[in-house]
Amino acid sequence: MRVAIIHNKKALSLEVAAKLRELLQKAHYQLDQDDPELVISVGGDGTLLSAFHLYNHKLDQVRFLGVHTGHLGFYTDWRDYELDELVDSLCTQEEKAISYPLLDVTIHYRNGKPSQHFLALNESTIRRSTQTLEADVYIKDELFEKFRGDGLSVATPTGSTAYNKSIGGAVLHPRINAMQLTEIASLNNRVFRTLGSPIVLSPTEWVELDLAAINDETHYTITIDQLALERTQVKCIVYKIAKERIHFASYRHTHFWRRVRDSFIGEV
Ligand code: NAP
Repeated sequence: MRVAIIHNKKALSLEVAAKLRELLQKAHYQLDQDDPELVISVGGDGTLLSAFHLYNHKLDQVRFLGVHTGHLGFYTDWRDYELDELVDSLCTQEEKAISYPLLDVTIHYRNGKPSQHFLALNESTIRRSTQTLEADVYIKDELFEKFRGDGLSVATPTGSTAYNKSIGGAVLHPRINAMQLTEIASLNNRVFRTLGSPIVLSPTEWVELDLAAINDETHYTITIDQLALERTQVKCIVYKIAKERIHFASYRHTHFWRRVRDSFIGEV
């Protein structure tokens, strides 16, 4: 099997990545950063997000596996002191294939500028850099609400424990094939009226945000996971559940709600 290792720059991650490389080579795995079948991220959930964006053009041939060099994360099943066990599982155990939904984001521009397409593992958000965002929110071509506020976020189920949770979104079990639209500080008055609570959309639905630009130079900040884009001339953004999914190589079962409890509540 061809394996790539992606790590962050923390001293412990560098050390763990070096040890992992050594163990994998001893076990006759081929290290291949360009064309891997398995991508192992060493760091945190943020490192796995980076690994996803490095290899998101070959999602049908790559599986991901996360080693956390801090607390246990949401995309990371292994701890830094479990490397022998991890390599042993790769060699001897049958892997359980697990896949989770991704978010498909298309940004359409004014004045004939070509559209841009992205995949997000956690979420995509839109804000106006300094002023209030105004957007007509369509669900499946039907006007749902007129939004005015700081911004909007659309999250995947696995992203629901990240930024989405901080802005009051619900935590979704990652096996639910859905996406969640959450408001960021909405203003409500006679003209602009929003539901005021997060909504969870099914795979047959899509969300379109039509942006009421003051002029072509209205400036928006659009995020795709860690990537922040500064854009003008944005006409609309369309969000749907992607046809692609992220595949994880799973060798152990971590109970999702236990992970949520351990991360956010602690001892009960
Ligand atoms: P970062 O600002 O360095 O770290 C953000 C934190 O979010 C890290 O502690 C990271 O965990 C954690 N995280 C990432 N994905 C998660 C998930 N699916 N569930 C629970 N926690 C998660 O940014 P980053 O590490 O590059 O990651 C980018 C992500 O951070 C964005 O997609 C966004 O969701 C999140 N974020 C959240 C807030 C907020 O909650 N106010 C603000 C900015 C960004 P690790 O420590 O394990 O890496």
